[in-house]
Formats: sequence, C-alpha cells, structure tokens
Amino acid sequence: MKKILHVLLVLLLAINCKQSRPGWIDKDRLLNRQPEEWLALGGNYLMQHFSPLEQINRDNVRDLGFAWEYDAHNTVSNVHRGLEATPIVVDGIMYTSGAWGFVYAVDARTGKEKWRYNPLVDASYGRRVCCDVVNRGVAVWEGRVYVGTLDGYLACLDAKTGTEIWKKDSFTDRTKSYTITGPPQVAGNVVIIGNSGGEFGVRGYITAFDLKSGEQKWRFFIVPGDPKNDPEHVEVGLAARTWDPNSNWEAGGGGTSWGESAYDPELNLLYVGTGNSTPYPIWYRSPNGGDNLYLCSILAINPDNGKLVWHYQTTPGEIWDYTSTMNIVLADIQIDGAQRKVLMQAPKNGFFYVLDRATGKLLSAEKYTRANWASHVDLKTGKPVKTEQGWYKDEPKLVMPTLSGGHNWQPMSFNPLTGLVYIPEHNLPMVYKQVEHYNWKPDQYSTAIDYNVLFDFKSIRHQVKDSTDTIPSESLLAWNPVTQKAAWKVTDGAPDGGTLSTPGLLFQGTRTGYLKVYDAHTGEKLKEIFTGTGIMAAPVSYSLDGEQYISVMAGYGGAPMCCYPQDAVFHKYENVGRILTFKLGGIATPLPPLVKEIATPAPPDGEIRRDLVSKGFLQYDSYCAACHGNIGSNRSSLHPDLSKLSEAKHKLFKEIVLGGILSQNGMASFSNSLSVEDVEAIHAYLLDAQTKSYAKESSIVLTEKTN
Ligand code: CA
Repeated sequence: MKKILHVLLVLLLAINCKQSRPGWIDKDRLLNRQPEEWLALGGNYLMQHFSPLEQINRDNVRDLGFAWEYDAHNTVSNVHRGLEATPIVVDGIMYTSGAWGFVYAVDARTGKEKWRYNPLVDASYGRRVCCDVVNRGVAVWEGRVYVGTLDGYLACLDAKTGTEIWKKDSFTDRTKSYTITGPPQVAGNVVIIGNSGGEFGVRGYITAFDLKSGEQKWRFFIVPGDPKNDPEHVEVGLAARTWDPNSNWEAGGGGTSWGESAYDPELNLLYVGTGNSTPYPIWYRSPNGGDNLYLCSILAINPDNGKLVWHYQTTPGEIWDYTSTMNIVLADIQIDGAQRKVLMQAPKNGFFYVLDRATGKLLSAEKYTRANWASHVDLKTGKPVKTEQGWYKDEPKLVMPTLSGGHNWQPMSFNPLTGLVYIPEHNLPMVYKQVEHYNWKPDQYSTAIDYNVLFDFKSIRHQVKDSTDTIPSESLLAWNPVTQKAAWKVTDGAPDGGTLSTPGLLFQGTRTGYLKVYDAHTGEKLKEIFTGTGIMAAPVSYSLDGEQYISVMAGYGGAPMCCYPQDAVFHKYENVGRILTFKLGGIATPLPPLVKEIATPAPPDGEIRRDLVSKGFLQYDSYCAACHGNIGSNRSSLHPDLSKLSEAKHKLFKEIVLGGILSQNGMASFSNSLSVEDVEAIHAYLLDAQTKSYAKESSIVLTEKTN
C-alpha cells in the first residue's frame, strides 16, 4: 500500500512538473479545449482561429484599449519587415516569430521579454523571397518551440530559455532559391516543415523530423523530378503520370508548401496545402498538359510513415499562381441532416471547398469571390470546369482572381456558434500575359508572365463585359459553409487582415493601422482602435487571472513592394514591428514615429552615362524594384528610396551591390546575377532620377546635354 501511494505521489509530481514547465502543450491539452490558452496557430487542433472567451463582448467592447506592446524589431536588418505569425499562448507566456525566423517569448501579462532567438540567417536569403522575409509562426510542444528559419533550418528551442536543442537542415539543394516562410506543424511524433520559393523555380516538398531527436523520418515530394531519376516514393511516381515526361524539370515545377496546416489526432491525418506551379504557363512547364499533381492540392498524410491517404487538387493544370496553401480549418458541421467531419479551405482560386476530412470526398465548392477561369466545380468528377477566359496562351486575358488570390495567407476563422467562416476576401482582376521567351534562372523570378501589363486593362478592353469587371474591391466576408452563400460582407476600411472569432465578435486588423471589432452575427462595426501600424496577422485571445486579452502582431510587409496601396499607414508612420495587446479598460495605443520626408540630396558631380539609363531602368525593374519599389515613391520606412542616395553611398555603389558590404542590413550581394556593366547601368539610371528629382525639388531648369 505504501509503495502504491509512493508511486501515485511520484506520478502526481511528474504531471505537476510537466504542467509547470514552460511551453508544455501535449495531445491532452490540445484535445481538451482550454479556453484561457491559445495552444496552436489556429487556437487548438481544429485550427478555427476561434476563442470561446466572452468577457469582452458586444456590450463592453467599447472599453477595449491598449494593455502592452513588445518591440519585435530584429537585428538582421535595420528595416522593419512584415509580421505574419499568429502567436501561441500557454501558461502565461506568448511564443511567436518574426522576420527571418526570429522567435520571441514574452510575458503575456506585461509584454516583458523572456528570451529572443536570433536564427543568424545569411541576409542573402532575403533575395530569394517573392513576398518579404516573413515567418508565419512557431509550433510549441512539450516544453519545446519549433521554428523554420528563412535559410532552411528547422530549429528546436528550449521553451524556458530559448537555447537551441537541435537545428536540422531541411534543404535538398542550396543552389536553388528555396526559403522557409511557413510554420512547422506537429503531427503524431513528428514535426513537419515545408518550404517557399515557387516563384523562383524550386521543387516543393515537406520533411518530417522526430519531435525529440530531430532525426529525419520522412520526406514527401509534392511534384515529380526528372524521370531519368527514380521517383523518391510511390506517390510522386504516380504524380509523374500527370506531367509531360518532357517537362521543364530544371525549373523545379513548384508546389511549395508554406501555409497553415492541420492535424486530426483522432483520424491521425496531417493536412497540408500545396502551392502553385513554376513557371505558371503549363505550355512552358509541361507542354503536353496534364493535371500536374500535386500542385495546388490538399494532401492528407499519415504522419507515422509519410504515406498519402488521400488528395484533392483544387486547380488541375494550374497556370495562374492559384496556391492552395491558405489556412485549413477543421470542423464538425451538419450537412444534409448529418454530422460531418469536414475540412474547409478558401484557396486563391476563388472557390470555397468543403471536404470530408476522413476520405477527401468533395462535399461542395462554390465561388466566394469573382472567378472567371472556371464556370463551376463538377461535384461528380470533383474537378473545375474551365473557361476560355482563363487561357492566356494565344492572347492576354482578363482573369479573376489575380495571382494574389481571392484569399491569401491571412487566416480565415470559423465561429461554431454562428456557423460562419470569416474571410479577408480580395476581388481583383488582372491581365495575364505570357512572356515570349522563357528561360529559367535560379535566382530570378521565373514565372514566365509579363508583370508590366498586370493592370493594363486597355489592352484587353474587348474582354470587359461589365463596367465593374476591372474595378478591384475587397471585403471582410462572412461565409456560410453549409449553404455556400455569403451571410454578410463589410467592404469599407481596408478589411484585409487575418481574422479572430469569439462567440459574439469578430476581430480584424487592417493595413490602414486599425484593429477593428465587428458583431459576428451582423457585421456591424462595434469598435476600432487606431494603432498607426499596418496589421496583416490574425489576432488571438487568451485569459490570465480572470482577465481576457486580445493580441496581434502588427507590422506591414509581405507581398511585393510594388503593389502596396496608397492607404497603407506606413506611408505616414514608421513601420515598427510589434506585438500589440488589448484589454478592457486599456488606454490609447502609443503611435510609432511619423515618417520623415527625406529631401533629395544633391547628386554627385560628374557626367551621367546617358547611353546606359534605359538599360539601367530594365535592370532596376528586374532586380531592385521588388524591394525598393518604383523610383520616387516614398517608402523610406520599409526600404531606402534609391533616388535619394547620399554622396557616400554613390561612392560605394559597386561595393554595396556587388561586394555585399551592407549584407547585414539585408542588402545582399548581386554578384552572381549582375555584371559590373549592369551595375553601372543601374547607377546611371538612379543618378538620372536623382538629378531630375533634385532639380524638381529645388526648381532648377535642366538642360540636357546631347554629347
Ligand atoms: Ca505563388
């Protein structure tokens, strides 16, 4: 008896000890909803981005105010990059990630830092991203924090101290432009990580590592490799039958996985969304066509062995960048009188999908936004019925949605009480035009479409049927997944951030610097808080000492700098990346410093090589504009305006661009892409632009020399 008591005591102590260890999340905690915690990116294993907390509600939300902030400015680069992660909160500590794969652990009551992890990423990886050096979050499991770093490692950290326990290389080929921006996902005894780089031409795959030892357990290739080599596993061999054997294998094919996955512990299935093709036009990729599995698909994988259990392809024969890596939500809902275990996704292609998550059977798919590339999805075949309007091989076409999608990575949320899904929806038309000649280059955008005509609607005027066809719009869309119809939508005030649901409320940040709160049933706006910082990420909610908090990562960036809207708040306030937390009775949010208008410095003396200016413009457009934007636009708080360079920077121009002397600031060397002559041409173009804007600002009349 004494012995039994002793064993019980030891067991109790062991359980207590686990619970008191920082970052202790396990299957039991994840399955038994703990409303005061936020245990996974989507809250718990259902990934609904829903919190049952309702201390903050319709009646008192007007009293919501600032509680604390944490500066997530990182040190790899002295600019403030986009923040996209959803934090995880457990036992009073918040764990989240920032640019490059930095990890932050902070006291969830006060915002005081516990530790910060610097992944020591070589800044040259910053050149390999389509959409900023972002990171979409960490996984926390049994006292450890897992993060994918931009340069391809999966790091396992001690949740108490932030020290590295192990770090594993997940890349198969470092000569290709792979990066990691997506979050890890714990499933069974493994943690999986995917990768990014589809726009540059890589072959997507996911890798599973043992949670404890970090030993690689399996790897699943999403698209086939060159058939002259044996397929790595059965499934990718089957996928090869849906590709032309003479495909452009060098370009990688794409299919990278970088979104929020999900895991159902009862079915023991891991759900992974996969990305778009490289290059986009199938005639340059897989000339004889084919579905090109497993591009733009949802894969259900047994995490114990890495075997595919089922797959569903949202966009067969993909040619539009219709990534299917948007967040996956699990729910048990009534459909036709029966309770169904479903999986829901609103991928870029404009259709909202409801699948049986045990079998992968398509239950319904309807358009949640304007989409003209397909008329509908045939429920018998499970495939979209494509239209002529989507096919841009023979002439440029007006296509909806665009390459940024009807919905992108910003998480949608599901409220099981209203039965609605809340989607940040983008309704944007675009002109798709192929480039005339396609050559894959490892470190350049390699999509084979012409970015100069994206919004040149005059060129396709005859295709415009309705005056609204070329007018962009966006909404916070409340979507009923059972009836596949909109319940309501909010179209004003830039409703573009990820969403958080609570029983009666809906929270969303905006690029215009607001955190907004809506009535979950009606869409009525109940509260807005101005923060001065653009918010893209999804908020979370948690409770400590009986007090409910709302918290969100604020900091703008992400998609290409060329396309940032004029209403983005970073034009006015410095883009200071921070965690912002709110509670009832809170105060006004501290605003970041105002952006200082920088006067154009006098250009250095000397002749400008006018014969190089137009070549320089083209090179600037290909290599510089993705980060620095179009010359003359005021984006000083994100990246320097290169038409306002100081005399010292002009002197060091070649050393910066080719020598990489500012690589620790995030400006990597371009010596493997640009020649000395290329750099001289870019410099001539910039000197010309600076001379013109200096003259304009100082009202000097220029006399062009004609020698
Ligand atoms: Ca893409």
